[in-house]
Amino acid sequence: MNEETIMDKIVSLSKRRGFIYPGSEIYGGLSGTWDYGPLGVALKNNIRNLWWRMFVEDRDDMYGIDAAILMNKKAWEASGHVTGFSDPLIECKKCKRRFRTDQVSDPSTPFDKTQDKSLRARKCPECGGSLGDTRQFNMMFKTHIGAAEDESSVSYLRPETAGGIFVNFKNVVDSFHPKLPFGLAQVGKAFRNEIAPRDFIFRVREFEQMEIEYFVRPGDWEEKFEEWRSQVYRYTDAIGIPRALVHELEVPDGERAHYSERTIDFEFDFPFGRKELYGLAYRTDFDLSAHSRASGVNLQMVDEEGKAPITPHVIEPSFGVDRTFLALLVSAYTEDELGGEKRTYLKFNKAVAPIKAAVFPLLKNKPPLVAKAREVYAVLKNTSRSAGCRIMWDDNGNIGKRYRRQDEIGTPVCITVDFQTLEDDTVTVRSRDTGEQIRVTSSELPNLISS
Ligand code: ATP
Repeated sequence: MNEETIMDKIVSLSKRRGFIYPGSEIYGGLSGTWDYGPLGVALKNNIRNLWWRMFVEDRDDMYGIDAAILMNKKAWEASGHVTGFSDPLIECKKCKRRFRTDQVSDPSTPFDKTQDKSLRARKCPECGGSLGDTRQFNMMFKTHIGAAEDESSVSYLRPETAGGIFVNFKNVVDSFHPKLPFGLAQVGKAFRNEIAPRDFIFRVREFEQMEIEYFVRPGDWEEKFEEWRSQVYRYTDAIGIPRALVHELEVPDGERAHYSERTIDFEFDFPFGRKELYGLAYRTDFDLSAHSRASGVNLQMVDEEGKAPITPHVIEPSFGVDRTFLALLVSAYTEDELGGEKRTYLKFNKAVAPIKAAVFPLLKNKPPLVAKAREVYAVLKNTSRSAGCRIMWDDNGNIGKRYRRQDEIGTPVCITVDFQTLEDDTVTVRSRDTGEQIRVTSSELPNLISS
C-alpha cells in the first residue's frame, strides 16, 4: 500500500466516522488545529484513563494535579522558555513561506537533488526561491491578562504541562509529606506556535500531554531513568501499540532541550516517517533550582530526618495524547477481505476501543425483536458501566452494513438479537477480526465483553 494513501485513508475515515474533524472547518479551517468528534472523545478518554490508572491510581508514590494553563510569566522566564523555547526559522525571500530550518535541510525534502546538501538547504522547498538567514522563533503563544495590553500583563499559554507541576511541588510536599522518590502527574492541554504544523494530528498547535515529574535523590537518577524507560513500554503494551513499531533514540549532546542532561525519544513508525511519540528526560534539579532562585521560595525538602534538606532531581516521562491517538489509528488500520468482500477495520484492543460492543435487533420492523434487543442492550449498558465500557445501539440498514460500520470504528464484537433469542434467550456474537459468530445466552454477555 502506498504510504501517503494510508494517511489519506486514515484522515478520511476519522472524519467520516466522527473521530476527528478539521478545526473551524466551516470557516475554511485553522492551521494546526483539529477537533475531536464523539468517537474521538471516547478514544481519547480511554487513552488518558488508562494512563492515569496505571501511573497515578495504581501506585502509592504518585500525586495528580491539574494546574491552570495560564501561569505567571515569571515561571516561564525562570524555566528558560521565554529565552530558549524556540525553533530555528527560515523564510523564503521569494514566496515568503516560513520553514523550520531542519525541514529544509532534510535531504529527503523534494527539491533540487543535483546540488550538494549545503546548497540544497538554501532553496525553498515550495518555490525554489532562495532562503534568508536562520533566526530563532519562540513557540510560546503570548496573550494578555486583564484589560491592559502592556508588558506587565503578558502571559503565555503553557507550552508543556510540566511547568504547572514544578510550581506546585512545594504545595504537594507540604500537604502530603511524601518521601523520595515520588512523582507528580498532570494531563492537560499545551500550546506551541509550531512553524509548520503537519501530518494530521502529529504536529499541531494545540495538543494534550500526559506528563510526570518523578523526583529522586540525585544519586538514584540512572536507576529511576531505567525504570521509567520500561514503564513506557508497559503503557504502549496496554493500549496496543506494537513494540516492533517503537524505537528508541538517544538524543545526542547539543540536540537536547536546554534543561535535559539525558533524553531518550521513543519514536514510532508513522506512515510519514519514524518520528517522536514520547520523550523521557533527566531534567536534573534544573527546574526546582531555577524556580527557587527566581521566586525566592525555598524548594528543597527534607528527605531523611536529621539530614540537611536537598533539591531533588527529576526524571520526566512525557506522553503526547494526540500522537498516541495517531499511533493507535496507524497500528489499528487494517484492510482485508471477508466473505469475498473488501473491508476496512480498526483493530483496536478492547482496552482502548471507543465502543466495546454494539447491540442490534435483526430486523427493526419487528416489535418483539426490537423490545428484546432493547432489553439486552439496557442490561449490558448497566452491567458494563463500572468497567468503563461503552455499548452502542444500532438498527440502521441491513446487518451487513451494520457490521461494516462497527468494523470501521473498531468495535470488537456485535451482538444480534434474532427470532431464536425470543425462544431460548441466546444471541449471536460476531467477532470483528475474524467475522466468526457464536451463540451465547444473554446472561453470559457481560463477562464476555469485559474479559
Ligand atoms: P518534536 O521534536 O516532535 O517537536 P518535542 O521534542 O518538542 O517534539 P517534547 O517537548 O518532548 O516534544 O514534548 C513531549 C511530547 O508532547 C512529545 O513527545 C509529543 O508526544 C507531544 N508533542 C510535542 N509537540 C507536539 C505537537 N506540536 N503536536 C502534538 N504533540 C506534540
